[in-house]
Amino acid sequence: MQGYIDIHCHLTGDEYAPLGGVDGVLALARENGVERIVCSGFDLASSKTAQELAGRYNEVYFCVGYHPSELNKYQDGDLEQIRMLCQDKKCIAVGEIGLDYHFEDNPPKDMQRDMFIRQLQLAYDVHLPVVIHSRDAAQDTLELLQAHKTLLGNGGLMHCYSYSPEMTAAFSALGLSFSFGGPCTFKNAHKVVESIARIEKTRLLSETDCPYLTPVPHRGEFPNHPSMVRFAVAKMAEIKQIDEIEMKNQIRENAKRLFPRLHEK
Ligand SMILES: [Zn+2]
Repeated sequence: MQGYIDIHCHLTGDEYAPLGGVDGVLALARENGVERIVCSGFDLASSKTAQELAGRYNEVYFCVGYHPSELNKYQDGDLEQIRMLCQDKKCIAVGEIGLDYHFEDNPPKDMQRDMFIRQLQLAYDVHLPVVIHSRDAAQDTLELLQAHKTLLGNGGLMHCYSYSPEMTAAFSALGLSFSFGGPCTFKNAHKVVESIARIEKTRLLSETDCPYLTPVPHRGEFPNHPSMVRFAVAKMAEIKQIDEIEMKNQIRENAKRLFPRLHEK
């Protein structure tokens, strides 16, 4: 069975209790043909919990890193511990890392940029791709990545891509791929739909970013969970005017190429 891939989600919180916890949502995901689920860390504690989940469940893989909004928690030595977690064969990438200027009280931009570069360097050192979170920081993200292009040598993913369709060319030129989740199914998603239309289908991946961003037709329900990834895949197939199964298989191939560890046992 060639299943769906949820390349980015968060299973480390307690939001899933109404669905029977992580056990419950993973049972649902199996019933709905989800083959691989990547649980993303966003600080040291969640990166460790993501590793534990990957140890417990066959289909769960993980990535490790410090999200830009979480940097106020950062302590000396955390990056060394994250580096250790990268040795786990089910750790497929360093992420989510990046820049987030959305809220005024987010960590200072200098600190965000510094930690982004340090984590790009870490990924390069351990031969892993990166998963990038970037919100309201398109130009800074692009310039920083262009200036450190060599550190993207193992590839990278712009997760939950939300910038202008025009910017996709610039990020593509850096060799990056793009993943989309619930927002591409939303009624007002013109920019996202146009981006998907422009991006080569070999660079598209699917995600839920659960527990948030539940797709249509379940928009508004909480929590979102990995089974819902099929709605984003169906939407991408519609935009690319290809069969849904073809889209699913293409995404599976794309994921395998970008994240080699995702298909190792
Ligand atoms: Zn996330």
